[in-house]
Amino acid sequence: MINFQYAKANDVGEAVRLIAADRGAKFIAGGTNLVDLMKDEVERPTRLIDISRLPLKRVEETAAGGLRIGALVPNSDLAWHPLVERRYPLLASAILSGASAQLRNMASTGGNLLQRTRCHYFYDTATPCNKRAPGSGCAAIGGLNRMHAILGASEACIATHPSDMCVALAALAASVHVTGPAGERTIAFADFHRLPGDSPERDTNLDLTEIVTAIELPAEGFASHYSYLKIRDRLSYAFALVSVAAALALDGETIQDARLALGGVAHKPWRDADAEAALRGARATTETFTQAAELILRGARGHGHNDFKIDLARRAIVRALTQAARGTPQSQSDKRIQ
Ligand SMILES: Cc1cc2nc3c(=O)[nH]c(=O)nc-3n(C[C@H](O)[C@H](O)[C@H](O)COP(=O)(O)OP(=O)(O)OC[C@H]3O[C@@H](n4cnc5c(N)ncnc54)[C@H](O)[C@@H]3O)c2cc1C
Ligand code: SF4
Repeated sequence: MINFQYAKANDVGEAVRLIAADRGAKFIAGGTNLVDLMKDEVERPTRLIDISRLPLKRVEETAAGGLRIGALVPNSDLAWHPLVERRYPLLASAILSGASAQLRNMASTGGNLLQRTRCHYFYDTATPCNKRAPGSGCAAIGGLNRMHAILGASEACIATHPSDMCVALAALAASVHVTGPAGERTIAFADFHRLPGDSPERDTNLDLTEIVTAIELPAEGFASHYSYLKIRDRLSYAFALVSVAAALALDGETIQDARLALGGVAHKPWRDADAEAALRGARATTETFTQAAELILRGARGHGHNDFKIDLARRAIVRALTQAARGTPQSQSDKRIQ
C-alpha cells in the first residue's frame, strides 16, 4: 500500500494552486489509468488532487463555429453528444472503438489525453524502462515489441501512445486549453504529445503545474467522408495495433481537403504534411491513397516482432481512405454494436 494524501479541488484556480505546491502530486479525474498505475507502483504520487467535481463538463459551440469540450466530459457523453454525432462522427467513432462502455463512462476527455503507454515493460517494475526509471534502459528494444512504435521512436524508447480519441483529435486539428500558475494558454494538438527522444519520461508538453481545461475543435468536421479504422487483436476491449483516422472533403471525385492520422504506431498520433498534400487536389483513387500511405510511412522501421505493422498500416490507410471517399465508414456499423 502506497501512502498518499487526498485533496479535492473546488475550482480550477484551487487545482492549480494545489498541484503547484507539491511536485509529487497528481490530478485524478476518472482514475481509470492512474489507479491501475498506482496499484502496480509505477506511479507513486504523494498526493491525489481530485478534479472530478470541477465545472468542466460542458460541450459548447464556439463563436468560430467549432466546439469546446470540457476536460471532464466523460468519453461516453462526448461520443453520444448530438453535436459530436452529427458534426464530428470521426471523433465519436474513435471514442467508441476504445476500452469498454463501463470505462468510457468513467474516463474523462482530459484523462484520455494524459493516459500513459501500454508498453508491458513500463508496467513491470522488475524490468528496465527509461520512461518509468530514466537511464535504466529499454527492455522493449530487443524484447517483446509486437505492440510498439514503427515511426518516431528513439534509442531510449519505442513505446506508442494508446489513445483512440487522440488520433481523431489530431486529424481534426483540435487544440488544447490549459491553465497554470502563469495563466491560460492554448496548445495545438500536434504539439501536445511528444516524441520520446532522449527524455521518454515526458509524454506531453504540459507542465506538471498545468491542468487541461478544454479541447477545442475547429468548424470543419469532415462529417460526410470519414473513417476511423482500428486494427486490433480482438474486436473490442483491445488497444490498436494500427489505427487510421481518415477525413476527406470531396468535390465529385476530386479531393479538396484531406486529413490522415495514425494511432498505435508512434509515441504520439502521427500526421504527415506531405502525405496530406499529396491527397489534396488529387482524384480519390486507390493509386492516390497508396501514394499517401507510402509517404506517411516512409520513415517506418520495425523492431523485430512489430515489423508486420508497416504493411498492416499501409493496407489500413488505403482501406480507411477508400471507406471515407465512398461515404461508408465501417465505424458506423461498429458504433451500433459497441
Ligand atoms: C482495460 C482498459 C482498456 C482501455 N482501452 C482503451 C482503448 O482501447 N482506447 C483508448 O483510447 N483508451 C483505452 N483505455 C484508456 C482509457 O481511455 C483511459 O484510462 C482514460 O481515458 C483516462 O481518463 P481518466 O479520466 O480515467 O484519467 P485518470 O486515470 O484519472 O488520469 C490519467 C492521467 O491524466 C492526468 N489527468 C487527468 N485529467 C487531467 C486534466 N484535466 N489535466 C491534467 N492532467 C489530467 C492524471 O493526473 C493522470 O496522470 C483503456 C483503459 C483500460 C483500463
Ligand atoms: S519502450 Fe519505452 S515504455 Fe517501453 S520499456 Fe522501453 S522505455 Fe519503457
